[in-house]
Amino acid sequence: MGQIPQEKDLKIEFGCQFTLALPNVRLSTLLSAFTVLLPKILGDFVQKALIGYGELLMARRKKPFSCGRCGNEERFIWKTRCGKPTKVLTTFAWVTLGQMQIQCSGCGHKFSITRMLLGLDPYQRIAPEVRRKQGLLGALTTFRVAEKFMATFGATIDKMTIWRAVQKTGEEIAFSLDPKGEARGEADGTGIGIKGIKKRGKELKVLVQYMKGGAIRVAGIDIGSYNGNWDRLFKQSLKTLKEFKSFFLVTDGDTSILDGLKGKVTILYQRCLWHIPHQLKFALWQDKAKVKRKSPEWLSVMARIYDIVGIRSGIDSDEEIQALIALKTKKLDELVKDCRTKEYKHVVSYLENAKNDLFTGLSNKLEGKTSSRIERLFRTVNTRVNVGKWTTKGALNVTKVRLAYYYNGFDPTKEENPYPEGVAQVST
Ligand SMILES: [Zn+2]
Repeated sequence: MGQIPQEKDLKIEFGCQFTLALPNVRLSTLLSAFTVLLPKILGDFVQKALIGYGELLMARRKKPFSCGRCGNEERFIWKTRCGKPTKVLTTFAWVTLGQMQIQCSGCGHKFSITRMLLGLDPYQRIAPEVRRKQGLLGALTTFRVAEKFMATFGATIDKMTIWRAVQKTGEEIAFSLDPKGEARGEADGTGIGIKGIKKRGKELKVLVQYMKGGAIRVAGIDIGSYNGNWDRLFKQSLKTLKEFKSFFLVTDGDTSILDGLKGKVTILYQRCLWHIPHQLKFALWQDKAKVKRKSPEWLSVMARIYDIVGIRSGIDSDEEIQALIALKTKKLDELVKDCRTKEYKHVVSYLENAKNDLFTGLSNKLEGKTSSRIERLFRTVNTRVNVGKWTTKGALNVTKVRLAYYYNGFDPTKEENPYPEGVAQVST
């Protein structure tokens, strides 16, 4: 069924009458009474608007709908204007509406026009715009807090509804590169603690695109196992990547899926500091004639490299980073010197090669490059994912909504008022 045409001349008379017994007229008493009335008034308002509009359509010769059985578009009669109750979710509460049912005079087929007039699909109980608002709330704070906030304003939406809204909204969101953005980006991963998932949790991988003015936007996201597949992250952007003349990507991830775009995508590997101890073990093994695995000397080299690559997160001041680099460079030089004395040839050569990579991440941070912005992005994710219990899919969905809001301009509260001017005016 197509879009229902807007009616500029639709006027709804809305009067409501309720009898209330009040112990007093203190503001707090009135507000809580109003809170109780709210879903009833709202349901009444929606019902009356629907009936008013339904009457208007029924008075027309040609209807904006047709009989699903015989295709008749003109001859219908009312069966009921307020029949079998059905529930629809609003931003305030579930409201119960009596369905409007009509009958085709051609074939006798009976059907409800309530959802169609509301702009909902058959059987749909939640309008996407309502759900997106609740989805945003649930992504910005915990479900419990979201429920409390809404209750403060008289809404009676329970946290399970908000949870579902977050999941649905997250599923709707798909990130990809913006062809109008800069031809530069960064892909990085971080561990996120998902409760109930043993060991180190899962890894969140993000592809960000640099935008003019130094901002970043999210162009891809995935949650999977550590050192897992990076394909899913880049997959959604393959098409857009082809549209760029050339694209510069900084990452440590596995980019084999981009192999087909060689010459088009330049990849700069920013060696993950955590890989270095692992690779050093291999160099130590190559020097096994000089240093025995797990011997005190072997352990000492490993302990020193862990110390060198280890970075406490949260360092933001340039001076601190500079001092840290100086200290780590000194420690690394000492380690290289000692290993040279002990004739660990492979270790020396490995460490000398790794030296540049080792501090790229830190230096980028020093120059105010994106690393710190990506770290902030990861913190934005973790502040929400750290509260609550998630499945991998659940964590992915809440993260998508959250990042879309913070980085991609997604804001369901700003959705345009779908009503033309004048229609929603209330005459007093
Ligand atoms: Zn019919």
